[in-house]
Amino acid sequence: MTTSGSSTAIWEERWHPLREEWVIVAAHRQDRPWSGETVPQEQQHVPHYVDDCYLCPGNARVSGVVNPIYDGVFVFDNDHPCVGQNASANPSPPAGIYQNRPAQGIARVVCYTPRHDLSLAQLEPVEIENLLAAWQREYVDLGRVSNIKHVLIFENKGDVVGVSNPHPHCQIYATNFVFKTIETEASASRRHFANTGGPLFQEIIEAERRDGARIICESDLSIAFVPYFARYAYEVYVAPKRTYPSLADLNESDVTDFAAVLKETLVRFDNLWQMSFPYVMALHQAPVDGLDHRGFHFHVEFHPPLRKPNLLKYLAGPEIGGGNFLSDTSPEQKAAELRALPATHYSVR
Ligand SMILES: [Zn+2]
Ligand SMILES: [Zn+2]
Repeated sequence: MTTSGSSTAIWEERWHPLREEWVIVAAHRQDRPWSGETVPQEQQHVPHYVDDCYLCPGNARVSGVVNPIYDGVFVFDNDHPCVGQNASANPSPPAGIYQNRPAQGIARVVCYTPRHDLSLAQLEPVEIENLLAAWQREYVDLGRVSNIKHVLIFENKGDVVGVSNPHPHCQIYATNFVFKTIETEASASRRHFANTGGPLFQEIIEAERRDGARIICESDLSIAFVPYFARYAYEVYVAPKRTYPSLADLNESDVTDFAAVLKETLVRFDNLWQMSFPYVMALHQAPVDGLDHRGFHFHVEFHPPLRKPNLLKYLAGPEIGGGNFLSDTSPEQKAAELRALPATHYSVR
C-alpha cells in the first residue's frame, strides 16, 4: 500500500468572490521551506538626484516642460498618455458583430518624493500620509470631470514589470470606462449589498480574522493579509476595516492608521529577500459612474510577480490558455513567511 501524502499537499479550488472565478491551488505545504534566500546585492549606490531622470526636480521632460523644484508629492499630466480627452467621440464603426467606442480619459503621473533613491517602503509615515492625501484629491478632482467613470491609481515597480525608471512614482488613469476587474468587484459588491444589506468585503475581512493564518499585520482600523484566494504567491490586500467606497472617504486619523499598515506591508516585502520588492500595486476604489457603490470597500492590492528572488510567476496554459490562475504556493505559508519578518526596513537596521 502506498500513502498518498495528501496531508502535506493542497489540491483544491478556492472561490475568488471579488473576481467571481475559481483559483486553483496545487501546493505542497512542506515543500522547500523558506531558507531565507536573499538576492545577491551589488549594493550599487543610487544617488538622491539623477540629472537625466525625467522625474527628478528641476529636470526637463520629453515634452520640454521642466519639473519644478518640488518638495514632497508632485503630480503632472502624463506626457505620453494611454488615454486622452481628445479621442474621437465617434470612431468609425467596425464590421458585423464587432463594437467600438472612444477611449477617453486623463492620465497623470504622481512622484512620491524628490528623492530618486527611495521607494514607497522607505518613505517616512508622514510622507506616505501626504501621498495618500494627494491620491484622495486626485480621486475627487478627476471623478468630478463629466465623462470620467473611474479613477485607477496604480504603481508598477521593478524591472520585471517593465519599469526602467526607479524614481518612486505611480500613475493615474481616469477613464470614460470602468476597468474590468473593478467592474466585476463593483457588481459583485452591489449584488451582495442588495441581498444581505452588508458589504461583501466585510465578509472577507471577517473570514480572514476568524482564520487568522493569512494576516500579515493589523491595527485598530486597518488590516493586511494574503487573501484565501490569492493568485500570486505574495499577493497582499491592505484595507481599512470599516467600509469606505474610496480612499477619499477616509478621515485624517483613518489615513494615518492606514499609512502605517501600508508601510509595514511594504517593509516586509522588501525584507523578504532584502531587495527592493517588485510589484503591481492597484488601488481598488468605487467607480465614479453614478451607480450605488455603498457596498464597495476600498482596498489596495499588491500583485508581486516573483515567486522567488529570481523566479517569475509565468502566466501560461492555465492562466492564458484556460483563464484561471493556478497557484503552486500555499497562501497560508506565504503569509507566515511575511509575518515572520522584521517590521523595520533592512536598509536601516
Ligand atoms: Zn529621479
Ligand atoms: Zn480588489
